[in-house]
Amino acid sequence: MSEKTTLFVDVILPLSLPNLYTYRVPFELADKVKTGQRVVVQFGKSKLYSALVRKIHRVPPGQYEAKYIHSVIDTEPVVTELQFQLWDWMASYYMCAIGEVMNAALPSGLKLSSETKIILHPAFVPNEGKEQKINYEKLTDKEYLIVEALELREVLTLNEVMEIIEHKTVYPVVKSLLAKQVVVVLEELQERYKPKLRDFVRLSPELKKESKLKEVLDRLEKKAGKQLDILMAYLRLNDPQEKKEFQEWVKKSELLDLVKGSDITLKALIKKNIFELQQVEVGRLLSKSQGNPIDKRLNEGQESALTEMKKQFSGKEVILLHGVTSSGKTELYIKLIEDTLQQGKQVLYLLPEIALTAQIIQRLQSVFNKQVGVYHSRFNENERVEIWNSVLGGQRKLILGARSALFLPFSNLGLIIVDEEHDTSYKQFDPSPRYNARDSAIFLGQVHKAKVVLGSATPSLESYFNAQTGKYGLVEMTQRYGDVLMPEIEVVDIKEANKRKLMKSHFSPQLLEGVELALKNKEQVILFQNRRGFSPIIECYTCAWTPPCKNCDVSLTYHKAGNQLRCHYCGYTIPMPLQCEACGETNLKTKGFGTEKIEEEIGLFFPAARISRMDLDTTRAKHAHKQLISDFEDRKVDVLVGTQMVTKGLDFDHVSLVGILNADSSLNFPDFRSFERSYQLMAQVSGRAGRKNKRGRVIIQSHNPGHAIIQDVISNNYLAMYVSQLRDRKSFHYPPFYRLIELTLKHRDVDVLNEGATFIAARLREQLGDRILGPEFPLVARVRNEFLKAIMIKTERETSIASVKKIINEVCFEFKLQAAFKQIKLHIDVDPL
Ligand code: ADP
Ligand code: ZN
Ligand code: ZN
Repeated sequence: MSEKTTLFVDVILPLSLPNLYTYRVPFELADKVKTGQRVVVQFGKSKLYSALVRKIHRVPPGQYEAKYIHSVIDTEPVVTELQFQLWDWMASYYMCAIGEVMNAALPSGLKLSSETKIILHPAFVPNEGKEQKINYEKLTDKEYLIVEALELREVLTLNEVMEIIEHKTVYPVVKSLLAKQVVVVLEELQERYKPKLRDFVRLSPELKKESKLKEVLDRLEKKAGKQLDILMAYLRLNDPQEKKEFQEWVKKSELLDLVKGSDITLKALIKKNIFELQQVEVGRLLSKSQGNPIDKRLNEGQESALTEMKKQFSGKEVILLHGVTSSGKTELYIKLIEDTLQQGKQVLYLLPEIALTAQIIQRLQSVFNKQVGVYHSRFNENERVEIWNSVLGGQRKLILGARSALFLPFSNLGLIIVDEEHDTSYKQFDPSPRYNARDSAIFLGQVHKAKVVLGSATPSLESYFNAQTGKYGLVEMTQRYGDVLMPEIEVVDIKEANKRKLMKSHFSPQLLEGVELALKNKEQVILFQNRRGFSPIIECYTCAWTPPCKNCDVSLTYHKAGNQLRCHYCGYTIPMPLQCEACGETNLKTKGFGTEKIEEEIGLFFPAARISRMDLDTTRAKHAHKQLISDFEDRKVDVLVGTQMVTKGLDFDHVSLVGILNADSSLNFPDFRSFERSYQLMAQVSGRAGRKNKRGRVIIQSHNPGHAIIQDVISNNYLAMYVSQLRDRKSFHYPPFYRLIELTLKHRDVDVLNEGATFIAARLREQLGDRILGPEFPLVARVRNEFLKAIMIKTERETSIASVKKIINEVCFEFKLQAAFKQIKLHIDVDPL
């Protein structure tokens, strides 16, 4: 073979490298490689990686001798050209390595490396004596060897697998075992996921018709006594003639218990299509109120909003749907989704992670059934690979997911919905790529020529600005569905109340009376406090000493559960000290309050009330969040105390009162977005009050009741907030008029850090002048024993962002070449939040 015909591939390695690497393709693999496939390559001294083929060509690299690829893992591409377009854009827009984008994009089930560990699929592991048997006949010899080894040793790394079978075939063989679902990738960091399933049955929807049902009853009456018993028992539980379009699912065990029926009898009924069976994950159970009708008629407001959207879509690619809380935006999405699916196109529906609750999942599943796939970080990697493949294979057309769902291998998206588009959790902070999923979704829309809907009751200033200036379409809905009134909002002056000694702990008399009244009426209450723990500060009475974190420059938060002090930045925990470390005083007082304290104190005022708390501390376990929500829905809880988690996209029917304990903490936060954020937070949490039947009530406690933002919340005047904020943004040079790029440097030695930061800032200033701010220590200047320093770059919207980024890249490159700064970590954050 002459050099000319040798094939080379440029691959993406799963590392933070600036460039692609070129490898040589051995002759026997030449007709097997395709772009988007994974290949095994050696990088560095001896490490093997699965890398992704980005380009195939015949040009040997100039700088180095190309190594051969070891093997090809896939027979077909796992990543498509359309996905690569998104990756390339992300790497360039967010100024990061393509390998970092790949790491964010691929589920680790697709990122095999020599350290990857595999185990037998849980179904084959002895488990209450019910495990399935492996079908050894379906295995090749090599696969058999691996399985045999796993039966003995439980866990193998791919390196260890290499000792068992021939080097070059490891990856393809492991891939095949994964595909056959005989083995899975072990994730050590994630909780092993075994969903608890329960069987549910319901009458087949066909039997909704009275005549059909009668036919069946007649037939059963003649011969099958026991089957009839079960059917009759079901009908006693659920009258099919009631005006429900859906038959209720009933727990199988409950139904059988009623008539001492047997499983076999029920199976016969299922076989005859009289009943349907479904397995439901325990944490995801439907609560009774959610037997959703399939087709909700749009009301007039929704109808005209839909017409308007369709009209605007003829000229715009992106529409901002600004509809007040409970205006029925979800129903509009459903109509748009139906249209898109009918055209044979795919739909991506993005939600902030925490808003991906059973509520929305059930709502979409009830309309779109099996076409819906759900993709988010609480799913384990094997489930993610399953969804990945079902999107690639076209079985799932509608994906509901958190930000990482952007990366799925869509082939023809017709519609992307970004619900709660203002939500900050669309932004990934760490690790790189620090992307905003909303903005990336708009790019993804361009790639697919898909329409994009940004939805929110409280749009981000940026999006509203884009809508106002005609870049996006704008459709607004100002009425709540069913003409439910917007809640009545009152503000209580706690400074005044304090002066008059009316406050009882952190509660104003108005709030306590409100809670009492709601409880008396058997209604529910949400109390919002945007701080977790018991109290954020412990202070010595005598000398004002406060216990600091030993790793970070913050004071520790007191958590009564466990009687601990905890750092919210690094997790460092110590027992509550018995005395002051500075003066020995044993009288330490707590200052300020978090959700834990509110939970405890409201319990003292209302001992009979059932109280729960929803914050980071109570929702760590996999199903805890779901459980809290379903308990609240089922009215097993009267008062829910929570952080901003309670604001996100939840729809409760019986909440009549929302209390905001301290509006000032977010208003006073030193950040140019804090007013916008406070408005969003307060408006969103208020939106949880009073949905059906009754006007809700909101009580806001503040030291500064006249604050313009609070007044805007009270009058539900988004526009007023927008106009005043926009003015500030313009005069202080912030988005949307200016773009921000933030560089953060980190190092354990503050002197080295200072030197490095000064170096970079000076170099940047040479070219960008007073667009450079800092370096400055951020609010928390030390985290996990590393000091931080930030440099902000502010550029006018009109300047070419590409050329600014080029300058930054060059300066950062030069910086990294300096031996003195080798150990300094440098983060770039484009459009920081
Ligand atoms: P948003 O997303 O704007 O806050 P939702 O879509 O959650 O509002 O709707 C609020 C409530 O009104 C939900 O309980 C929903 O089921 C109900 N709803 C909205 N539109 C309709 C409709 N067309 N028919 C029946 N119920 C509706
Ligand atoms: Zn002291
Ligand atoms: Zn800390």
